[in-house]
Amino acid sequence: MSVQGIIMLVLLLAVLAVFFLVARRLIRALMLGQPEENRLDSIGERIKSVVVFVAAQARVLSQPAGLGHFVIFWGFIFITLGTIEHILGMIVSGFSYRALFGDGVAGVISFCQDILAFLVLVAIVVSVFRRFVLKPVRLETDDPKVKIDATFILALIFVLILLMYGMKGAGIIMDEVDPGYAPVSAIAAGMIEGRVGNVEAFESYFAWAHHLIIFFFLIYIPFSKHIHILGAIPNVFLRKLGNKGTLRRMDFEDESAEKFGKSNLTDFTWKQLLDLYACTECGRCQAACPAYLTGKTLSPFKVIHNLREHLMSEMKPLLSDGEYQGEQIVPEVVSDESMWDCTTCGACLQECPPFIEHVQAIVDLRRYFVLTEASFPQEAQPVFRNMEVNYNPWAFGYADRANWSEGLDVPLASDKKSFDVLYWVGCAGSFDDRGKEVARAMVKLLTRAGVDFAILGTEEKCCGDSARRLGNEYLAQMLIDSNIETMRKYSFKRIVTACPHGYNALKVEYPQFGFEAEVLHHSQLLLELIREGKLKDLSVEKSSGIYHDSCYLGRYNDVIDQPRDLLESIRGVELREFDRKKKRSFCCGAGGGRMWLEETAGERINESRVDEALAEGAGQIFTACPFCMTMFEDGLKAKDNEEVQVRDIAEILLAANQNGDSG
Ligand code: SF4
Ligand code: SF4
Repeated sequence: MSVQGIIMLVLLLAVLAVFFLVARRLIRALMLGQPEENRLDSIGERIKSVVVFVAAQARVLSQPAGLGHFVIFWGFIFITLGTIEHILGMIVSGFSYRALFGDGVAGVISFCQDILAFLVLVAIVVSVFRRFVLKPVRLETDDPKVKIDATFILALIFVLILLMYGMKGAGIIMDEVDPGYAPVSAIAAGMIEGRVGNVEAFESYFAWAHHLIIFFFLIYIPFSKHIHILGAIPNVFLRKLGNKGTLRRMDFEDESAEKFGKSNLTDFTWKQLLDLYACTECGRCQAACPAYLTGKTLSPFKVIHNLREHLMSEMKPLLSDGEYQGEQIVPEVVSDESMWDCTTCGACLQECPPFIEHVQAIVDLRRYFVLTEASFPQEAQPVFRNMEVNYNPWAFGYADRANWSEGLDVPLASDKKSFDVLYWVGCAGSFDDRGKEVARAMVKLLTRAGVDFAILGTEEKCCGDSARRLGNEYLAQMLIDSNIETMRKYSFKRIVTACPHGYNALKVEYPQFGFEAEVLHHSQLLLELIREGKLKDLSVEKSSGIYHDSCYLGRYNDVIDQPRDLLESIRGVELREFDRKKKRSFCCGAGGGRMWLEETAGERINESRVDEALAEGAGQIFTACPFCMTMFEDGLKAKDNEEVQVRDIAEILLAANQNGDSG
C-alpha cells in the first residue's frame, strides 16, 4: 500500500469511527422515546413506500420545485459511488468498478455521475436564486441558522462537483477515465490540458480536496439539516399507514401515570423523535398551512425544526445517567399560540416528503395542557362544559336534540330497533340553524328515496371530534363510549352522516374503541341513490357554484369525486373549482376545535378562503360539511356579501329533485 493509501485508510477509519459514534448517540436518544404503535406491519407496503417516496421522490416531485431535490438526490448517490471507487482505489491498488464489474457497468456509473453532477450544479444555482431572489413562502424562516446551513451545504456540494470534474478531467488526460462515459469531464480535460504542467499532481490535489470535503460532510451531517439523509429513509419506511385522520388513543387505566399528554422530549414516542431527524427543512408544510399563511404564529416547519434543535441541544443531559428533567416544550420550544393555532387540517401531513406527523405531536402537547394542567383557551371552557352536560358544544339541553325534526315524522331508532341506515345527525345538524336545514333536507331525500332509516334522537351525543382535537381526550372517550353503547342497542347495516368530522370519527376512530361499522358520508349515499334511480329528474335553473373540499372529507378520507359527481348529476349546475382543491384544499378554519375558539391573530382563515371563492366569480359556494358552511357564511357576512349563497350538497339536491314524492 502506498503512503497515500495508508494516510487515506487511517483518515477513513477515523471519520467512520466519529460518524458511527455520533450516529450511536442519535439512536440512543431515540431509544429514550416512549413505545410506538406497531410500525413493522405490512412490510410490502412499507418497502413500496420507500421505492415510491424515496427512490422515485413522488412527493418531492409533486411540486415543480421538487425537480431540483430529485436531481441533487440522485446526483449525490452517483457522486458518492464515484467517491467510494476513488478512495478504495487509493487504498487497494488496482481497485476500480471497471475491474470489478466490467466496462459496461463502470461506464454507466461514470456517465450517470457525469451528467447528474452537471444537473446538480444547475439545480444549486436555481436553488440559490429561489432562496435569495424569489424567496418563496416555504423558505421563509426567522432562524438565520437555517438559511446559513442550507447555503453552506449547497456551496460545499458545488465545490465538490467542480473538484470531481477536475479529477475526472485529469483522469481522461492520463487515460484512466474513458471520455466516452464522461462527456462533461471531457470538457474539463480540454480546459486542463496544456494549462497544467503536472497532471498527476493536479489530480492528486483535487482528489484529496474532494475526499476531505466528503469526510467533513460525513461528520457535519448529524449536526445539520442534512441529518435527514439518515432520518428520512427509515421515517418513510416506518410511516403511519392507512388513514391519516386518526389520533392515538390514550390509556386512562394506567394508575401510575403522573401526567397525561406530552410536555417534554422523553414523553414523545421514538417515532416522534425520529420525525425530528427526518425533516429536510423544505418548508412545504409551512407553505400549505392555513394558520401560517394567514399570519398566525404557527408554522409546522418551525415546530419540527425547533423540536430538533431542542433535542440536539439536550442530547448531553438526555443521555446522562440521571433522570431527564428537560425544559417544558410549551412555551420554551413551541409557543402556546402555535399549539392552539392548528386546525388539524392535515395539509402539512399531505405535503411532507418524509411523512412527519405534525398533527399528533401538536395534539399531544394540547393533551398535556388540557388534561394535566387544566390550562386551555378560555373559550374552550364552556364548550367542554356543554359537551359534558348537554353532550353538544352549545348550551342547548340534550333533551332538545331532536327538536329539528318536528313535523317531519322522522323514525327513531328506539322505536324501530332494526333498520338499514342509521342517520347520524351530529351536533350541527341538531342545533345549528343552517345545520338543521341540512338535516331536514337529508330526511326528505332519504324518505323520497325510500331508505329504511332512523335517527338516535336524544340518545345521540357529540361524536367527540372537537373535544379530541382540542386535547380533551378524556371527555372525547366518555362521549365515544356512550355513543357506542347506544348504537350497540340497535341493528343497522350502515351509518350516514352529513358531517365530515363525525364521519371521520365514526369511520376511523371509533374502531379504536371496538366499534366497527360501514360509515358513509351523505355525498356517498346520495350519489348511490341517484345512480340507483331513486333520486331522479334533477335540475335547477342555470346556476354556477364552487365546491369546497372539507379537510376531513377529501384530504383525510379520499371522498373527493362523490360530491362533485353528485353536483354534476344536476342539470343546470355549473361546477367551478378552487385552485387549491381536492387533497390540496385550503382549510375553512374550523377543524381541530378551532370552530369554538377566537381567531384574533392575522387574517381570518375563513375570510381568506371566501376571497378565493369570490375571485373565482362563484355565485354559490357548495359545501359538504356543516363547519365549512358556518365558516363561509361568517366570512361572507364579514365581507358584507349578501349575493353569494352557501349551500350544502343535500340542499341543492333537494331543490333539484323534481321527482318529489315519486322517488
Ligand atoms: S394541520 Fe393544518 S393548521 Fe395544523 S400545522 Fe398542519 S397545516 Fe397547519
Ligand atoms: S416537516 Fe416535512 S414538509 Fe415540513 S419542512 Fe420538514 S420535511 Fe418539509
